[in-house]
This record gives sequence, C-alpha cells and structure tokens, in this order.
Amino acid sequence: MSQDCIFCKIVNKEIPADVVYEDDLIIAFNDIAPQAPIHVIIIPKEHFDSILSVPAGNDIICHLHTVANRIALKTGIAATGFRLVNNCGKDGNQTVPHLHYHLLGGRPLLWPPG
Ligand code: 5GP
Ligand code: ZN
Repeated sequence: MSQDCIFCKIVNKEIPADVVYEDDLIIAFNDIAPQAPIHVIIIPKEHFDSILSVPAGNDIICHLHTVANRIALKTGIAATGFRLVNNCGKDGNQTVPHLHYHLLGGRPLLWPPG
C-alpha cells in the first residue's frame, strides 16, 4: 500500500470501482473514462510505481497477461481482437503511478496510437 495512491485505495476498497475480476494478486475494474466499449484496468494488488519497478523473476506480469486473456474471452473482445497497453513514465503518458495495464476492445483501434 502506498499512501495517497488511488489504485491502492481501490485495492483496499477505500474508494469504489466496478470490479470485473479479482484474485489474491490482481484486481481488474472498468476505467472511469473508457476509451473503447471495453476498457478494463488490470493491476497487481501490490504497489509498484511502474513496470520498471517489478523485480526480475517476479511472475506478476505473466499472471496479469493470463488474467487479461481471461477477461478478453469473457467480454467477447477476444473474438475480434483487442489491445493490452502499459503506459510507463511521462512520455508514455502514465498518469497513475501504480503499475497497470489497459485492456481495450470492442471497436477498431488505430495504430500508431499517437
Ligand atoms: P494511465 O494514463 O496512467 O496509463 O491510465 C490511468 C487510467 O486510470 C486512465 O485511463 C483513467 O481514466 C483511469 N482512472 C484514474 N482514476 C481512476 C479511478 O479512480 N477509477 C477508475 N475506475 N479509473 C481511474
Ligand atoms: Zn498503489
């Protein structure tokens, strides 16, 4: 838990979220400002500032991708395709400093994203 981290507060149920998946290590919830018909934020319950903070050998990223697949299948976006995005740092446009992935789908997604 990091003080004042909004995603840690979601993990600890201090602020509400529309949770679509939860286990011991991960929680996933609908983005408050969705950029696609399906826009889910997937986070480890443990606080890492960004992907750069995850120690080598920690398998949380593997687990997170497995959960993303599961949500993609459950929501139906696996049938037509989706995007799994990690924004890191200032130029990556990371606005919440708690490691998270965006799972987006339900419409054609442009590339490059801009
Ligand atoms: P970033 O730009 O850091 O990669 O993405 C952060 C995402 O978290 C944004 O898409 C933003 O809409 C979402 N977000 C920020 N605060 C909240 C919140 O309190 N609840 C939910 N559900 N999503 C949030
Ligand atoms: Zn946090």
